[in-house]
Amino acid sequence: MDLEGFRRHAHELVEVMADYLARVEALPVRARVRPGEIADRLPPSAPETPESFAALLRDVEEVVLPGLTHWQHPRFLAFFPANSSPPSVLGEMLTAAFAVNALIWEGSPAATEMEERVLDWLRRALGLPAGFRGVIQTTASEATLTALLVARERATGLRAREEGLAGLPPMAVYASEEAHSSVEKGVGIAGFGRRNLRRIPTDERFAMRPEALEAAIREDLARGIRPCAVVATLGTTGVGASDPLEPIGAIAERYGLFLHVDAAWAGSALLLPEWRHLAAGVERADSFVFNPHKWLGVNFDCSAHFVRDADELVRTFEILPAYLATRERGRVVDYRDWGIPLGRRFRALKLWFVLRLYGLEGLRAMIRRHVELARELAGWIEAEPDFRLVTGPNLALVTFRYEPPGVESEALEELNRRLPRAVNDDGRTYVTPTVVRGRAVTRLCVGQTYTERRHVETAWQAVVEVARGLVS
Ligand SMILES: *Cc1c(COP(=O)(O)O)cnc(C)c1O
Repeated sequence: MDLEGFRRHAHELVEVMADYLARVEALPVRARVRPGEIADRLPPSAPETPESFAALLRDVEEVVLPGLTHWQHPRFLAFFPANSSPPSVLGEMLTAAFAVNALIWEGSPAATEMEERVLDWLRRALGLPAGFRGVIQTTASEATLTALLVARERATGLRAREEGLAGLPPMAVYASEEAHSSVEKGVGIAGFGRRNLRRIPTDERFAMRPEALEAAIREDLARGIRPCAVVATLGTTGVGASDPLEPIGAIAERYGLFLHVDAAWAGSALLLPEWRHLAAGVERADSFVFNPHKWLGVNFDCSAHFVRDADELVRTFEILPAYLATRERGRVVDYRDWGIPLGRRFRALKLWFVLRLYGLEGLRAMIRRHVELARELAGWIEAEPDFRLVTGPNLALVTFRYEPPGVESEALEELNRRLPRAVNDDGRTYVTPTVVRGRAVTRLCVGQTYTERRHVETAWQAVVEVARGLVS
């Protein structure tokens, strides 16, 4: 493809993108295909000779679209959002065109220095402590793993990195029973052993109980196991609960534990002064992650990871092959030393586009709208006599059960397991089944960029109709 072809097709593609976003609302939210159906429509081997752009676009429509679950659908209420926005898409396009690799400062000074600057914008906007420095990781899972590796090296004085874990005393990591699965995954990968993850019980609001954390630490100490790190969550995946950072931080300090805060989803809400209280005590944290790719209108992937001591992060990961030695080393940030991968995309660009084209006020307005819609939704759930609000609204997240009269015990459980699947088959909205304290619930999270009141209303109507249809 020559430059003239690129110019022409790029314009065509912008039309395709805008048309998609304009009509996505009319499509069923979740893909309606069987496993293997899309693969069957793709030829077994690559074409030997070039095909036309028109043929490609036809297949985007006929093969790709039916296999999409529409995360940018305004009635998408499942998981946590991975919301995007037009400014972010434009920034992503430019990143693709520049196609730089910002592995070291020299790889593109603009990519590195913009990343430093826009992450500092976010640090200020969220009210995180001065002195925290930021880096964009691919995902919260990766940031949490990164934090656990730093904690491991701090606890062992870099011996784990140099000699391996064999021969060192076992170490334990603490997180609430509601913490994200990525914590357990990270604990396993970092070599602590998943068995050494302590799942700390939660209180009636699903927040980690600090006294239970302290008891678990003391028990490990008594058994010769070294307490290493605690991962606190702001906005748990199941119900959106937040752990109290103040007392957890005090315990971490008292016992010399590394404190990582996983605010993957809820971190964006700290832009709003009225939610800052959720992060009270965050100045005690060593590490903090949140995902602009969840609730800040930034395309996946963009995970903002802040650390109190960037030198400690660099000591954990730094490795200096001759071919990466540069004159500026030590005077500039080389982000390759701030995490696991070497190569890095220019991801700050889309964040810069979003922050500049919406402004913090625009982003706050979006989050406030989502929170307000979830509050209304909770009211509608409570107003239906055969539904029961189980948790929330926590920010923009609610869970509920359908409890019609005359259905009890195992039959009621089965009904609540079936409900979210039936809702998702209906197509008008897309929700997530989960379990709260051993009971099946349906979980709804408002957060898609384009979601308005009418979308949540239609989605809730769909839930009510489908639920009642299951028992009639
Ligand atoms: C979504 C989520 C994660 C994982 O996020 P990725 O960026 O997909 O790795 C981790 N923790 C919490 C609390 C989450 O909600």
